Amino acid sequence: MLIPCLTCQSRFAPDEYFAACSGYNRWLDLVSWTCPRCGNHDDMRVLPGELGFGYRHRGRFAVHDRVRVPGLRRQRGELRLDISLDRSSWRVPARLGPPVRAGAGSARRPRRAP
Ligand SMILES: [Zn+2]
Repeated sequence: MLIPCLTCQSRFAPDEYFAACSGYNRWLDLVSWTCPRCGNHDDMRVLPGELGFGYRHRGRFAVHDRVRVPGLRRQRGELRLDISLDRSSWRVPARLGPPVRAGAGSARRPRRAP
């Protein structure tokens, strides 16, 4: 199965296609994809059996175009997204976001070292 670039219509084998993913955004559940052929950047969401393309809107991601990839699976991790298809898998590391510290999200001040 070959997966197309929606911009230039080039088709890629899964290995080449998923190797071009980077920067998993855990908050919006997105990966960045850069076409190896035309250089176009796209945000996409990896879904079971398909890829979802769209745009960010008001802090959310709206899927508008779907590309069916039968057998595609995904698993969200703390610092990465694992994508698998047939017997292959690819790991997309998370984009560095705001620092995550113990106690983050609480209103208390971080404790200073003495
Ligand atoms: Zn392209």
